[in-house]
Amino acid sequence: MKLLFERSRKGRSAVIVPPLDVNEYRLPDGLAREKTPRLPEISEVDLSRHYTELMKQVHGVNDGAYPLGSCTMKYNPKVDEETAALALFTDIHPLQDLSTVQGSLEVMYRTKRLLCELTGMEDMTLQPAAGAHGEYTGLLLIRKYHLDRNDLKRKNIIVPDSAHGTNPASASMAGFRVINVKSNEEGGIDLDELKKAVNDETAGLMLTNPNTLGIFDRNILEVTKIIHEAGGLCYYDGANMNAIVGRIKPGDMGFDCIHLNLHKTFATPHGGGGPGSGPVGCKGFLAGYLPKPIVTEIDGVYGFETPEKTMGQVRSFYGNFLVVVKALTYIMSLGREGLLEASSVAVLNANYMMHRLKEYYGMASGKICMHEFVMDLDELKKETGVNAMDIAKASLDFGVHPPTMYFPLIVHEALMVEPTETESRESLDALTDIFVKLAEKAHEDPEYLHNAPYTTMIGRPDEARAARTPVIRYDFED
Ligand SMILES: *Cc1c(COP(=O)(O)O)cnc(C)c1O
Repeated sequence: MKLLFERSRKGRSAVIVPPLDVNEYRLPDGLAREKTPRLPEISEVDLSRHYTELMKQVHGVNDGAYPLGSCTMKYNPKVDEETAALALFTDIHPLQDLSTVQGSLEVMYRTKRLLCELTGMEDMTLQPAAGAHGEYTGLLLIRKYHLDRNDLKRKNIIVPDSAHGTNPASASMAGFRVINVKSNEEGGIDLDELKKAVNDETAGLMLTNPNTLGIFDRNILEVTKIIHEAGGLCYYDGANMNAIVGRIKPGDMGFDCIHLNLHKTFATPHGGGGPGSGPVGCKGFLAGYLPKPIVTEIDGVYGFETPEKTMGQVRSFYGNFLVVVKALTYIMSLGREGLLEASSVAVLNANYMMHRLKEYYGMASGKICMHEFVMDLDELKKETGVNAMDIAKASLDFGVHPPTMYFPLIVHEALMVEPTETESRESLDALTDIFVKLAEKAHEDPEYLHNAPYTTMIGRPDEARAARTPVIRYDFED
């Protein structure tokens, strides 16, 4: 495919600028560029074709299944986009007088209340712009709490070895030391290891439940109790909330603060670098440390307040407001029963696929899974030489996005599948059939899989080089 620079021809343009009818103004010397910038010159039709061609190279939920584990790449109803596109929401300014934007404040307030209700938290900030940003904010809450009590030794955050990579990263960014704890046979946190890891330096624990193996840790009440008894706090990574919305609350599992990924669970598309939102909720005793401002309602009037011992701001203004509008639309259009049905079907769909695929692939855990499951291709690799990368690449030829590869790190040949609740029975069957076919192919013709994909624009780039030394600049000849 050609780049815009390669399509460029001198003098072509996609705009007709009206003739100048005001006095010409020249920038003062030294401020203007010396040379005209070299921009592609291209007609409208060529421009339009260029972007259409680019668009066809990507895969989204509107193209087909997108079972990228841990990412919840589900279909997001159009109605959520429609409300977020209303001029009443898009044409306001964050510095506008609050009396003129009461409706938008009400959206924030109601979303906050509903999310608190769903998570068992008492207050919440909508400021953080992503999951990892929420983790960082939540850890600062924990930090503030200990410092405020003059408990200065508490430097350790306990993170299980199955954790999402952002967990240890956020903990160290927030100034903590990361203590890794091993998982047990079932994929949950090992209680004996946990007991050994806690002491008077424990600031807290970061955990996602269901975890990245798709397993719900049944010992969760024991886990949070061990941390609390050691004087630490419990942080819930709510990125996997899609599995439990409407059924269980992190607050009831013993967690003190949480983040949610609105751009996974609550109707904003995830990925592609678009705006996200990672609200952070907490129990009442931590609310005084939340970032400012916090949206409030007093006698029917909406406004903002600064928590007493606030950590300050973690982002400009109020966060990604339109993502919040989508979340509220999603929650209100589904209602209590609808939300419960969504999370139940997410779990059902994953179990349906796992059950069918068990005959062909090893599983990291044979138990009933939550909204995702992890295939372990170690056996397959020993028998046929075909690894997780080969299967993932080959699935591209069938028009599906591959599952998450080589994550969680504790499973060596991992393929992590999250079908989501929005796939139909037919779609799940078609997806499963593809992976069955690929498992059979691994035994018949491993070489074929080593060289896949065959239908995509590029086959197998050097992944490390592509990530570390990407060429993102056009190299002009002169
Ligand atoms: C996606 C995810 C995160 C991070 O969320 P971002 O919005 O990508 O920063 C954290 N934890 C888990 C378990 C996740 O799946």
